[in-house]
Amino acid sequence: MIKTVIEMPRVSQCEMVGCVYNSKKRCHAKAITVGDFLSPECDTYLPGSAHVTQVKTDAGVGACKVIGCEFNTDYECSPDEVQLGHQDGMVRCLSYQER
Ligand code: SF4
Ligand code: SF4
Repeated sequence: MIKTVIEMPRVSQCEMVGCVYNSKKRCHAKAITVGDFLSPECDTYLPGSAHVTQVKTDAGVGACKVIGCEFNTDYECSPDEVQLGHQDGMVRCLSYQER
């Protein structure tokens, strides 16, 4: 396997314990994608009863499509960390700030 090491904003917490990438409110995907252009939803959310077994590292935000967020530059997220959770019946980035 050829590996790539990049710096990403850390997902410091996610309330979606029913997502397969979640363990104890921490996300353990390697990277998540946020947004559908307008709404900051977690595009990586996958509901299920099974869960990942690798829980040593937290996920990063690999890409964010929400250009209306003040933290978005070139379709990427810029803060050191973000939090995700329930909002308006969806799984959303709670760190979103309208530009
Ligand atoms: S951030 Fe997204 S992929 Fe990660 S646990 Fe939460 S809902 Fe799942
Ligand atoms: S803070 Fe803004 S730019 Fe970063 S993931 Fe959330 S919505 Fe996207």
